[in-house]
Amino acid sequence: MNVYDGWRIAAMLEHHGFVRTDAIPDADIIILNTCAVRAKATDKVFSALGRIRRAKKPSALFGIVGCVAREAGATAFRRIPDLNFVLGPQSYHKLPQIIENPDARLLNIDLGGLEKFDQLPQMEKSPLVAYIPIQEGCNHCCTYCIVPYTRGRELSRPFDDCLRETLHAAKTGAIEICFLGQNVNGYKYTDENGKTYRLSDLIRETAKIPEIMRIRFTSSYPTEMTDDLISMFATEPKLLPFLNMPIQSGSQSILTKMNRPYSLELYTDIIRKLKIARPDIQISSDFIVGFPGESDDDFEQTMKIAQQIKYINSYSFKYSPRPHTAAAIMPDQIPENIKAERLAKLDNLLNEIQREFNNSCIDKTFQCLLEGPDKTGRHLIYRTPFMQQCIVDTCNNAPALARVKITAANKASLRGKLE
Ligand code: SF4
Repeated sequence: MNVYDGWRIAAMLEHHGFVRTDAIPDADIIILNTCAVRAKATDKVFSALGRIRRAKKPSALFGIVGCVAREAGATAFRRIPDLNFVLGPQSYHKLPQIIENPDARLLNIDLGGLEKFDQLPQMEKSPLVAYIPIQEGCNHCCTYCIVPYTRGRELSRPFDDCLRETLHAAKTGAIEICFLGQNVNGYKYTDENGKTYRLSDLIRETAKIPEIMRIRFTSSYPTEMTDDLISMFATEPKLLPFLNMPIQSGSQSILTKMNRPYSLELYTDIIRKLKIARPDIQISSDFIVGFPGESDDDFEQTMKIAQQIKYINSYSFKYSPRPHTAAAIMPDQIPENIKAERLAKLDNLLNEIQREFNNSCIDKTFQCLLEGPDKTGRHLIYRTPFMQQCIVDTCNNAPALARVKITAANKASLRGKLE
């Protein structure tokens, strides 16, 4: 979501005559697009602002947008007195106000719903992978999560708007569409005639666009994984065989404390149905270890489910107390050293499973999408249908979509040859 917001902010500034620079001393405006999901990310924002403040030219405007802006609000101006703007994730389209009035300070952390989508200028050219946000906010209120506070209640964008943005992306260069939402599979929009559209309708219509060859969506909530959506994996070959469906913990009692009221039976049954619909599908997850009250046995249940599902690519974190959340004031907070031990153990297992899956890809050929050159410029990075990074030697006129034979693998990436 932040990548998408970053693109829209850049397009909006280009519309106002700005050009991009990587050098802070050259910049006329510097924007930190921020994430508040973990305390460490928030702390980094303020230390980065301190560095920017010393490096920027005196006339340059600087500020923060996104979830840390919403979380910090006016206190951000107290911490960094010469900050020019603080704009929440649903009000960054107001940025031109500070350009027109640079001597003022701009604070707007309203949850203005979907207003920004109508006010942002259209992007002229799409990247190969176009992110299309179809819903914002979340109603699930997991007890550890700050998102319902920073992004507000769940709202789905009108179906026609989502489709129009998808078509525009396809006509201006996109080959892959990634539908986005904090609870993307909860997408539900009812039009003025009473017709209700779900994510499965969006996938079906998008698959008809000839330029679009790959479709995916993130992030999914288990109980919203309805049968109509599961069946898309059987009927729409453009839908990639890869799904991020966070389980967070393998312990039923911790899931209850997290206010994630699904049973482990329901979760594993969804995966069973997905595998029937698309036998080669692979799953990734997010995990939180050291949630308040997590016992050794609870943690072992998480290890067990990770081993059982064989997640090929996951994000695992130590629990981090966030303001405005119920879990932050729960008793039985877990000491940092125990969280660190459990995280290391889980990471080892997840890495082993990932390496095993990557090794199983050797000698197979996949249709892969070009991401761009690597840092050295000697190689190109492609993405397999399972979103693994695949490195090939640089060549002239490398196709955006290519058949790549996998020749070697390690934990983090694959090596391959264009066929
Ligand atoms: S479903 Fe995801 S975004 Fe929503 S509250 Fe839970 S963790 Fe946060």
